[in-house]
Amino acid sequence: MSHDMVITHGGVGATSEWNDGCERAAKSGMDALKIGTVLDAVVAAGAILEDDDRYNAGTGANLRLEGLCELDAAVMTDEGDFGAVACITGVQYPIQVARLVMEKTPHAMLCGDGAAAFARHQGIPPYCPVTERAMKKLVKYRRKLETSKLADLWPGHKFTGTIGAVARSAAGRFAVSCSTGGTPLTLKGRVGDSPICGAGVFAGALGAICCTGTGELIMKRLIAHRIYIALEDGHALKDICQAEIDRFPQGEYLGIIAIDQSNHCVLNTHDMPFGIEGDQ
Ligand code: ASP
Repeated sequence: MSHDMVITHGGVGATSEWNDGCERAAKSGMDALKIGTVLDAVVAAGAILEDDDRYNAGTGANLRLEGLCELDAAVMTDEGDFGAVACITGVQYPIQVARLVMEKTPHAMLCGDGAAAFARHQGIPPYCPVTERAMKKLVKYRRKLETSKLADLWPGHKFTGTIGAVARSAAGRFAVSCSTGGTPLTLKGRVGDSPICGAGVFAGALGAICCTGTGELIMKRLIAHRIYIALEDGHALKDICQAEIDRFPQGEYLGIIAIDQSNHCVLNTHDMPFGIEGDQ
């Protein structure tokens, strides 16, 4: 028998001193689950973290090297419904827009200007998520580029503060959400794993998975989907996730939160804030 559960993360590479935000988000997700669906739960949990300017999602998210705040987000349910936005600007809650893409369009992902125009069309008000702290970070990164090439700064580069949530209901339903400003030191138009179905997120009848870390590496390995396929093959959730952590390139960043009918797991190569709400 399953129990209601919501798990959140605040990005591999971020400090576990930020667990409080993830715990608050998981609690808010659980409150939403009590009166709604698993999808409501992961959207509600995501919104708390998108509003918390310590995390790299929504307000306070990283800026691209060109100075823009382009945001990626996705949601997916166990029914295989999926919606995402990539490089969207001028919105407060990218996960909410991803949900609207899923529910109101025949598409799976909208990006850039089209995503922003769609959000306006859906009545989402314009919003500036740029904070002073994010601008200071950008200045620091631009300075690094005065003496080094972008590609040279990447390997093992510290990724922090992307957010995600997975939820399970007592009835055994699953959903996942994810939201990010992308990695720091990133070119305009770059898209990582977070809004890609099967890369940063995946959900199905057997469970839900959310990844954080070096997006380019997660994307090429389709890690969330690979974990799900291993669940279908009957392997234990913790063993599957540990195997992904073990085979990830040494020194690179990977964090996973995952849930199935009777187990959950939080694993990470570096420090990662997280929160869990529900019977464990
Ligand atoms: N995976 C995210 C990205 O590559 C970054 C992160 O998880 O911190 O955009």
